[in-house]
Amino acid sequence: MPNVPGGREADVIVVGAGLAGLVAARQLTAARRNVLVLEARDRVGGRTANASIGGGKVTEMGGQWVGPTQDRVVSLATELGIETFPTYYEGRNLLDLGGKVRRYKGTIPRLAPHVLFDIGRARRKLRKAAGRVPAEAPWTAPKAEELDSKTLATWVRKAARTKKARRLLEIATGTVMGTGTSELSLLWMLSYVSAAGSFDALIDTEGGAQQDRFVGGSQRISQRLAEALGESVVLSAPVRRISQDGGGLEVEADGISARAQRVVVAVPPPLAARISFAPSLGGRRDQLMQRMANGALTKCAAVYPEPFWREDGLTGQAVTDDGPVTTTFDNSPPDGSPGVLLGFIAGPEAIRHARRAEAERRRIVLESFTRLFGPRAAKPGIYLETAWAEEEWSRGGPVCSFSPGALAQYGEALRRPTGRVHWAGAETATVWTGYMEGAVRSGERAAEEVLDAEGWRL
Ligand SMILES: Cc1cc2nc3c(=O)[nH]c(=O)nc-3n(C[C@H](O)[C@H](O)[C@H](O)COP(=O)(O)OP(=O)(O)OC[C@H]3O[C@@H](n4cnc5c(N)ncnc54)[C@H](O)[C@@H]3O)c2cc1C
Repeated sequence: MPNVPGGREADVIVVGAGLAGLVAARQLTAARRNVLVLEARDRVGGRTANASIGGGKVTEMGGQWVGPTQDRVVSLATELGIETFPTYYEGRNLLDLGGKVRRYKGTIPRLAPHVLFDIGRARRKLRKAAGRVPAEAPWTAPKAEELDSKTLATWVRKAARTKKARRLLEIATGTVMGTGTSELSLLWMLSYVSAAGSFDALIDTEGGAQQDRFVGGSQRISQRLAEALGESVVLSAPVRRISQDGGGLEVEADGISARAQRVVVAVPPPLAARISFAPSLGGRRDQLMQRMANGALTKCAAVYPEPFWREDGLTGQAVTDDGPVTTTFDNSPPDGSPGVLLGFIAGPEAIRHARRAEAERRRIVLESFTRLFGPRAAKPGIYLETAWAEEEWSRGGPVCSFSPGALAQYGEALRRPTGRVHWAGAETATVWTGYMEGAVRSGERAAEEVLDAEGWRL
């Protein structure tokens, strides 16, 4: 361990080698600090995960897309020699609602004018309401407590009058947050939209968060960061206990314990809640961690010799209410070979799906792909699934959300350091909260906090 003498002492210990933790470690290392990163899994990247699809190519089972205004993660990737390419988006999308499959172009499906009007009005209302919520301090928004006492479902029932518009908003929320609208604090959702710039930015492909992908897969960013950090990154070392005393901190992980001046905890709040802290973090922080719950999102990928749907003039994108898969995308590598169809299963449906036997899970998802894209979808060469709610060191995905009533009361504790412990992670970001962009920004912010607190600026 070259920059951690004896392997047990560091200036800063970073808990978690996802994007947030690795970015914090990189920045602290650049400021000539000794850093030790302790990661529970036997790999880096956390909620980003590449999966092999043969021939040295990969598809992604976790976070993957980037879009306009996600500047920090894209410039980081560029620095690391990782380029982006556009998500395949030529042709028509599919909408399968109430048993009827329609083809359409762009984000707005072909629906009856009154339904389109309803969707348009709900989106405008959401944009307006989110504009009044500052993502850096949503608890200061006008009527913050009132907004926090409502769920997104309550809002949708009022804002959208048609069944189809409500159904589409429910499906979009499931894919974006991994939960149903009834589980989400309205204030949190408005803050989330505000941090992204607009609801459209969250759901759009062209001009939105699904616009581009990373060549070689998003996990490469973390892998390259970890390579540069070398032996400072220790894998398979879940942190169990963090004790603070006047002289610093002691961190106990499986197989290693170490001392440091500062700790950056870069794990999602429900994972941080499983670490034992001495002295306790205090009621506010603890209540916060008890009230942020992860969504449940499962990604299913079917790999075919070629992306045959492209020949049929289809983008590979579909929205369907004939469940368990609710949305699909073309997730093929940049050269379109092999063809990869990706499906999302969200919320309680993801939990139910995980209980099925493996063969049954595959059959059900492929049936769905076949109904949408025809018989060639029935027999992929490879079928992959990652159920994030079943992952011990994520406990869900894509993001943790506040249940109603908690953000206004305890939100302030989300980023505020607790003594010498600093908090990072996508959930703590004020720009693109919950996204890779947010994770990167949160790592940068936590590193700056540590450098300022210790007067370690070069
Ligand atoms: C299915 C899915 C789809 C997504 N899609 C997108 C997308 O398209 N675009 C986008 O921008 N974002 C997307 N996201 C979100 C994005 O992946 C995350 O916001 C981002 O990767 C979070 O990074 P992080 O470093 O904050 O947390 P994580 O990646 O969760 O990293 C935390 C790390 O801490 C480790 N850990 C946990 N507990 C401990 C412990 N006690 N001790 C030591 N280590 C511990 C974990 O193993 C993990 O490696 C998606 C996520 C999922 C799951």
